[in-house]
Amino acid sequence: MPKKDDLPYMMGLKLRLYPNWKQEKILWKNLNASRFIYNQLLANSWTDSRIIKNKLDKRYPIPEAYWRYGKNGKVIKKSQKRPTGLARITAQRYPWLNDDDLDSDMFTNTEVNYKAAWNMFRKVHTAGKPKFKRKSRPVQSYSTSNHYSSATVKKHGGTPSLYNGSIKFLDHNHIQLPKLGSIKVKLHRSLPTNRLVRIATVTIKHYATGQWTVSLLLKSDEPFRQALPNTNQAVGIDLNTENFLTTSDQKQVANPHYYRALKKHLAKHQRILSRRARRAKKEHRPLWASKNYQQEKLVVAKIHQRVRNRRLNFLHETSTALIKSHDLVVAENLKSKNMLKNHALAMSISDVGWRTFLGMLEYKAPLYGRTFVEVNPAYTTQTCYDCGFVMGSKGTKRLTLHDREWTCPNCHVHHIRDHNAALNILAKGQRLLTRPDQNLEAIY
Ligand SMILES: [Zn+2]
Repeated sequence: MPKKDDLPYMMGLKLRLYPNWKQEKILWKNLNASRFIYNQLLANSWTDSRIIKNKLDKRYPIPEAYWRYGKNGKVIKKSQKRPTGLARITAQRYPWLNDDDLDSDMFTNTEVNYKAAWNMFRKVHTAGKPKFKRKSRPVQSYSTSNHYSSATVKKHGGTPSLYNGSIKFLDHNHIQLPKLGSIKVKLHRSLPTNRLVRIATVTIKHYATGQWTVSLLLKSDEPFRQALPNTNQAVGIDLNTENFLTTSDQKQVANPHYYRALKKHLAKHQRILSRRARRAKKEHRPLWASKNYQQEKLVVAKIHQRVRNRRLNFLHETSTALIKSHDLVVAENLKSKNMLKNHALAMSISDVGWRTFLGMLEYKAPLYGRTFVEVNPAYTTQTCYDCGFVMGSKGTKRLTLHDREWTCPNCHVHHIRDHNAALNILAKGQRLLTRPDQNLEAIY
């Protein structure tokens, strides 16, 4: 059997899950246990990851009950001396965690996630400290793992697949999950047909709307999508406030209206919700027992999710279209853009989802055999694409956000600001690819 590490290609598959009430009960047990263990680990801040161990051990010592002593009588605080992992230690203290309905891989994965959160904190500058997970979070999740036994694999096809692991597809509408048996799923697209596909980690989520999903991480030794034929097209995209983006071939994608359309609707239901909360308080009923309130809470959650779904849908459609129809896509680096421009722009960046959008371009490009690069947006707006004149030099005025069109004082070409910027962005990207050793900052 090929090892997991030999499979460099990955794909996520997220499906709606339709558990029956019995299965829903088991799912909730696992969600709650996973959250509880995570919070317990965090409260004790036990860690035995080698990377972070030395630094964290001093700040968050391992409880004395788990110390062991070496031959020379010295204390060994090594995790190997503990029974079987941090999550299991926690379970020993709380008998209710020995429930038969709890998935043993849930324990392991909770511990993995806990350690990953600390790793994130240490490695990524912007990542905060791991936080406690509240019971009231709108999205609750737990992870589990798939296992292949060589006997089962041998019996069914000879290679690990979507159909012979401990987690497997039973037919087009059913998946088998640990402790849950066969659960109904909705397959909205066909499953990958690679010669070899392994199911790795599996995450089950519950949303405030009451919906369940299962996300499968699939791995393969070959790409999940065929690279598309070359188009010989390259495009630069300028992200701006008046529209979502403008391309170097003069196309504009307007800002989506998904939110505006639902805003009134949302405001109305949020008013009803707070009214019901006030009434419950007045009548001294706790919110969890107030049926009216809980009903309305679900309505509000569903509207929020509709907004979220529409936004994601828009971002996916736009990014896939750009990647499919161009060999090279060049965009500006938002981090630099953020520093360059004003606060209002920084606000709108988070609002329209450019960050998510650029992330999508980045991961979709290699899927289709395309190239995506980000360039520093410095001077892309202020430079004339035709002659290279930079506005603001030689006594001229810099362009402001209000100058949507302008004429170059040097070569007298009339420009639409965003289109001119997109052309400059494309040119910067092409230069970066042909002469990657050149420092762009030095040229401009
Ligand atoms: Zn010019």
